[in-house]
Amino acid sequence: MFIETNELKGILIYINKQNFMADHDWKRLCELIPCVFIVDTPERKVELKSKVADGTKFILNHSPLFGLPQTIQEAVDLLGIELFELAYITNDMTFLPQLHSEPIGSILLSQGRRLPYHYHGFTPDFILCSLDELIDVITQKYKGYLAEVYLTKDGSYHHGYQGYVFQTSLKDSTLPYSVTICGRYFDPSHYKFNSHQLSHRIKRSKLDGTQNALFSEVLIPVIDSFNADGITRVPPRPSKVSADRLKTLIQENILRSRPTLNDYLDALICTREYREQKQLGSDARFANVKDAFYSSNLVSGKHIILLDDVFTTGATVTECAETLRKAGATKVSILAIASHQFTPKSFVFSRSTLSCPVDRCDGHLRLTLKRNNDFFYGCSNFSKNNCKGGTNYFEGWHSINKQNMIGNYYSDFDDFDDLDF
Ligand SMILES: [Zn+2]
Repeated sequence: MFIETNELKGILIYINKQNFMADHDWKRLCELIPCVFIVDTPERKVELKSKVADGTKFILNHSPLFGLPQTIQEAVDLLGIELFELAYITNDMTFLPQLHSEPIGSILLSQGRRLPYHYHGFTPDFILCSLDELIDVITQKYKGYLAEVYLTKDGSYHHGYQGYVFQTSLKDSTLPYSVTICGRYFDPSHYKFNSHQLSHRIKRSKLDGTQNALFSEVLIPVIDSFNADGITRVPPRPSKVSADRLKTLIQENILRSRPTLNDYLDALICTREYREQKQLGSDARFANVKDAFYSSNLVSGKHIILLDDVFTTGATVTECAETLRKAGATKVSILAIASHQFTPKSFVFSRSTLSCPVDRCDGHLRLTLKRNNDFFYGCSNFSKNNCKGGTNYFEGWHSINKQNMIGNYYSDFDDFDDLDF
């Protein structure tokens, strides 16, 4: 799901030398949607020009990894569109961290739907494996990651199961566990949080069980695809056993739908207190949970699904997976609802909020979860003076994207011209 782009009207493409798409594919793409190619040499431009549709535009940039905002500005000028109508496509993963803080859509072309460990925090809007998949995105047949697509709802409007999951690896990539992820989590400090329903649902799930039925609807098709013997989760610390959210989700939702799946919740336990992971850096997190779990040998010879809500460093799931394997599990498949996305530290881009549409109200609109589990944008003055100003989800999201006008965003750059980097 594009978070920054509601309507795709043009694409900006950088393809490095490991191009695996055929020349006629590029031609087909350029005939479908206006394209701008970034080329690093004049020779490359000549070569590509002979292969793509007439009228396709080019930007020469000797080092495409640098000056991305300026390149984006050039592209929207060339195409005569706005930022919120543009997506960037590349097969070069090293662009993902920069692309992550740009207010445009992002697509990675890849041989498989798999991101290396150090890139899962910069997950693009789409990971695509062929031109046909790219065409499905342009024609809106394919909408993004399973959990984001399925759980982005507005009243009767529902996308259904039109998304994919993706894979990442653990920090120690030699460990034999697959990591499957159903979407992205932007925490409240991330500007994308205010348009991302899945992130709000994950945050809400830490407070109550209202999201469990929806989460299990997303997870069940993925769980079925593993063909595993049973399921468990990252167990809570001893002082938190009464707040075992994932246990409730598994027992009251997942296992009720899939009664033949074995319940290994009690097989894996946490044996000691440890500091909250979120206060710690990556290495400290691994040390913090070392030998903190115990598994009974009930899991011996079994393929176990290990469920977690948000995958960040993977320290806790790594320790749990190792504990299960030492107790004899033959296979552990790690499954997370979402992967935690880095918050851009960019000083360039911060987006203003939507104003309340009610006359003389100084409130702003916030993504708000309703009792029926749908979202709308409600006024921040609701609790103060009961202001009922607001807008439905898709209108609000669209308005937020429309604030990405090129003038608003890039005018800040003028001041940086004489800075020495
Ligand atoms: Zn208001």
